[in-house]
Amino acid sequence: MSICPKNKSSKGHRDQRRANWKMDTMNLVKCPKCGSLMLPHRVCLNCGTYNKKEIIAAD
Ligand SMILES: [Zn+2]
Repeated sequence: MSICPKNKSSKGHRDQRRANWKMDTMNLVKCPKCGSLMLPHRVCLNCGTYNKKEIIAAD
């Protein structure tokens, strides 16, 4: 079953709704080990650690 809109949204209404689809800056956290910015809940690409454990061997 699909939704059945009672009234068609006008172009202005539709465009105004879509005007808020902006790209926002990604959430970044500082690595506790090396201090570089990294994505939360991801292995740090700089030092290769996650949760104080080394996941990727540092070169
Ligand atoms: Zn790091």
